[in-house]
Amino acid sequence: MKILIIKKRTLFAIIAIILVAVVVLSVSLTYASKQTAKPIGAKVIVLDAGHGGIDAGVIGKSGLKESDFNLKMTFLLRDLLDKAGFKVVLTRENEDGLYGKVTKNRKRADMAARKKIIQEANPGIIVSIHANKYPSSERRGAQVFYDEYNKAGMRLAKSVQANVNLLNQEYIKRDFSALSGDYFLLKCSHAPSIIMECGFLSNLEDEKLLSDDGYCNKLAFCIYGGIVAFLETEETA
Ligand SMILES: [Zn+2]
Repeated sequence: MKILIIKKRTLFAIIAIILVAVVVLSVSLTYASKQTAKPIGAKVIVLDAGHGGIDAGVIGKSGLKESDFNLKMTFLLRDLLDKAGFKVVLTRENEDGLYGKVTKNRKRADMAARKKIIQEANPGIIVSIHANKYPSSERRGAQVFYDEYNKAGMRLAKSVQANVNLLNQEYIKRDFSALSGDYFLLKCSHAPSIIMECGFLSNLEDEKLLSDDGYCNKLAFCIYGGIVAFLETEETA
């Protein structure tokens, strides 16, 4: 009987060791997956819907107002980033500008307010949403701009451009390169910042696409994919 008791004890000890090992392993696996997921999900992303209020931005040939379009695209992108667990901060959430009650230098007041929101949010990424215009109505396509002195911004721009080029190829049969540009919004933070010019409102076909919810959803998804791909590359580099 004594031998049997020892055997039972030994058996219990072995079972206990296995149980502890399983618990430790599952806890460490959960921890490891949280560790790798955390930096990406923990990023604050500022989305800036360009223009607003008295500043409508570009007005399309068929009447699409850039400030309205920018807000719509910003909401679509916000929803995708929200679902993925990012903390999203918007510079504006309605059609109003950010210049408050000032009557002079409204543009300057508007831009200063955007800069303040960006700096207070201390974001990991800034995306400013716009639609473009060009003297030639032939010009089309979605194109990303970055500040030449912000190298991470350039990498983010290239990542987003590669993704939106899927749409440029599908609808215009060509690619575009991300370009450097001298924009105030790109200099509000040292964080990677881009201007997303979603298409040309000076082109009727682009305006039609930017007025189409299906296309806008696809575009939002491409921008979102470019942001996530950038973050994954940066964190494994
Ligand atoms: Zn604009």
